[in-house]
Amino acid sequence: MQSIGEIPAQTDVVVIGGGPAGSSAATYLAQSGIDVLLLERQAFPRNQVGESLIPHFWKFTDLLGVSEKIESEGFVRKSGGITVWNNQIHQITFSRYGYSRPGLHVERDVFDRLLLEHAQSCGARVFTEVSAASVDFGDAHWPVVHFIDKRGADNTQGSVRCRYVIDASGHSCLLASQFGTRRQISSELKFLALWGYFTKSRYLGADRNSHAPEKCLEIRPVTFVMSYEHGWVWHIMLREKASIGVIVHTDRIRGMNKAARTAFFQQTCRDLPHLRDLLQPASFIPDSLQFRPDYSYYATRICGENYYCIGDAAAFVDPVFSHGVQNALYNTAVATLAIKESLKNSRLRKRYSQLCESRMQQFYGFSRALSLGDFGANGVDRELVKTMMKALPELELELLLVASAMTNRSENFKQLAREAGVWDDFAERAAVTAPDTIASLSL
Ligand SMILES: Cc1cc2nc3c(=O)[nH]c(=O)nc-3n(C[C@H](O)[C@H](O)[C@H](O)COP(=O)(O)OP(=O)(O)OC[C@H]3O[C@@H](n4cnc5c(N)ncnc54)[C@H](O)[C@@H]3O)c2cc1C
Repeated sequence: MQSIGEIPAQTDVVVIGGGPAGSSAATYLAQSGIDVLLLERQAFPRNQVGESLIPHFWKFTDLLGVSEKIESEGFVRKSGGITVWNNQIHQITFSRYGYSRPGLHVERDVFDRLLLEHAQSCGARVFTEVSAASVDFGDAHWPVVHFIDKRGADNTQGSVRCRYVIDASGHSCLLASQFGTRRQISSELKFLALWGYFTKSRYLGADRNSHAPEKCLEIRPVTFVMSYEHGWVWHIMLREKASIGVIVHTDRIRGMNKAARTAFFQQTCRDLPHLRDLLQPASFIPDSLQFRPDYSYYATRICGENYYCIGDAAAFVDPVFSHGVQNALYNTAVATLAIKESLKNSRLRKRYSQLCESRMQQFYGFSRALSLGDFGANGVDRELVKTMMKALPELELELLLVASAMTNRSENFKQLAREAGVWDDFAERAAVTAPDTIASLSL
């Protein structure tokens, strides 16, 4: 992607970050004729973790007008997921829950670039290799974003003033860090993620058999997740390689240097049944191992009268249900609606931001309830989560309730579903479909 030209001194909205949250925010706003400027600190394409997408995301990419471009890219289409959790095997097939379109396994460098280029083609002014440093809210009607422009030989500093700031800086959480509102999840679940890539890995299909890699566009894979004594692992089949993630309890890996972590990762891949079989003919891609510690956090305040934090800049819990990108897209749609209305009627902007705060906290609370074994003091408002459960379309809720049975993480979620009065009906239906839980895989 090219990033050329002078960064203007003033605009309506500055978006910080060009991941799925930032690029879709810029698209929505530009499509409405709003002047929007996006600053992304890295050159694109850039690597990113988070390659398994559940089919909810299509409804947002339809709104953004980018679904056709995604379809023609030819990403791997997945039919669902299989988990082996505490030796119990569960399978989800999306088409059983009313989804006519597949989930995807995407190379995130390709996917994120496609979304960012789409934003640009819709009229957003995109500047890559420009890093936002801080935001000055001294004048509430004209916040100023200070940035460092790294495109030339010298890093030059600059600033741009705007009516609204959108923080989509991912786990850097630029604004929550500036405000001191970022909280680490206080849970037993303190994990580090290690992930790397293999060529020639076999993969697990929806038929519960393993298949050769060259079949992956023909016989749809599932996302494979499996628990083990220190955490859990994922296997995501991409077009040219497989993404393998090893989630490990922080205590287990404390004090290990990079070489020791790499050895731990490779040993885990060799030791675990099922995963070991899929990787038996595969080769590890040298230097492909990356890691992210303590990835579960949230911001106590995510919307203000002149700013909105969206995507991972607002919160992230755990990738076990593959809903990070979907959460980012949902909250982007809500936040940009609030900004559009605020630009039309600035007297109400505080009210819009309050409504948005409550809606977005509800959504993030919902996802924390699903992914965490315990609530602790992690900012989950139980009443908001229950209201959301009651408001979800029946099939969408059912898919989430089925997901909540796939691990031992969701006891609180089930309790909330009982209190919301949506669990009993589901449990009855689930009993009828119980044979879906099977005892073996053919790998
Ligand atoms: C281990 C792990 C596995 C995951 N697996 C999945 C999965 O399978 N499926 C799924 O849906 N989600 C998954 N996720 C979550 C997913 O990666 C994120 O939810 C998603 O990328 C969020 O998008 P975003 O746009 O908010 O942030 P990002 O994709 O992180 O984008 C943020 C962008 O902001 C830029 N930026 C940061 N700071 C600045 C700054 N100061 N100035 C300018 N730019 C800046 C960054 O360079 C980056 O490009 C996973 C997460 C983890 C940790």
